[in-house]
Amino acid sequence: AIILGIESSCDDTSAAICIEGKVVSNVTASQKIHEQYGGVVPELASRAHIQNIVPVVDTALKKAEISAKDITAIAFTQAPGLIGSLLVGSQFAKSMAMSLQVPLIAVHHMQAHVLANVIPSGEEYLDKKPSFPFLCLTVSGGHTQIVVAHNPLHLEVLGETIDDAAGEAFDKTAKILGLPYPGGPLIDKYAKVGDPHKFKFAEPQIPDLNFSFSGLKTSVLYFLNKQKFENPHFIEENKEDLCASVQFTIIDILIKKLKKAVAQTGINQVCIAGGVSANSGLRETLTKVGAELGWETFCPPFQYCTDNGGMIAITGYYKYLSGEFADLNISPTARAKW
Ligand code: ATP
Ligand code: FE
Repeated sequence: AIILGIESSCDDTSAAICIEGKVVSNVTASQKIHEQYGGVVPELASRAHIQNIVPVVDTALKKAEISAKDITAIAFTQAPGLIGSLLVGSQFAKSMAMSLQVPLIAVHHMQAHVLANVIPSGEEYLDKKPSFPFLCLTVSGGHTQIVVAHNPLHLEVLGETIDDAAGEAFDKTAKILGLPYPGGPLIDKYAKVGDPHKFKFAEPQIPDLNFSFSGLKTSVLYFLNKQKFENPHFIEENKEDLCASVQFTIIDILIKKLKKAVAQTGINQVCIAGGVSANSGLRETLTKVGAELGWETFCPPFQYCTDNGGMIAITGYYKYLSGEFADLNISPTARAKW
């Protein structure tokens, strides 16, 4: 089967082709327009998706060396996300499915982030993928979840954030530090040359496998206000150490819960997913902790961490195999629990 996967839930327009379970092309257009506003502006995101979607799908087909008539089914992100952004992808997918007379597959974005871990790399020597069941820590711009993937289509959420997501914790503290949006990748960059133990920020005491990140940005804000009062150049002078210390705290919160999840479930194949799984500190820490505790750990390739068509195409492939198709009258939904 040849599956076209289309992702348009937020500010990345992405399309991928999956042939018999292998992702052979994955093309993403990221929207630069939002940087000047310090966050994603929904209406501008929808318009940029409209401009990008045809060239992105076209390029994905060309890179896969196939034409539209070869497609077996079309998978698209149906939920959750910005409604205007989702509408562009879903309308496009529906129109294309209708004109090609092929089935449509509705994909949940958070399921797709998890399944990014089972996309074959295409290079056999690298091809160590988790087998089911595995644990996944999904850390993205809008979600922070610990999930058991029993099989590709049966995921169970064990815990999640009760307020901000891990990606928001990165982006909001970056904003406090005067860094442009999205700040996550910049914190990662500066943290590489900073001292993670220079500053201590309190960690939340949340029971079970749930998370809370809203307190962290407040504690960073109060701390900096106090320091700036004494030294107006405090942030510039300590940028790297501040980034490293914030990143250390976020990772520490995440890893502690992962340890708890492994202990609770006895599952020791551990994956990460979502935009924050691109974070080099998180990847290193997971690998190190995993080696110490005898876990098998997996990090998706960078192109499958942030929003991408590849994860939609692979999820579409599994749904295709089990015959889970959508009606042409399906609508996208902004909020949908997994
Ligand atoms: P969701 O998937 O919850 O709907 P989203 O699709 O907007 O949200 P993603 O694209 O998966 O989120 O991830 C974006 C987030 O990842 C942003 O918060 C961004 O700052 C963060 N991020 C990306 N790269 C890094 C990195 N290297 N270090 C830390 N955070 C990162
Ligand atoms: Fe996402």
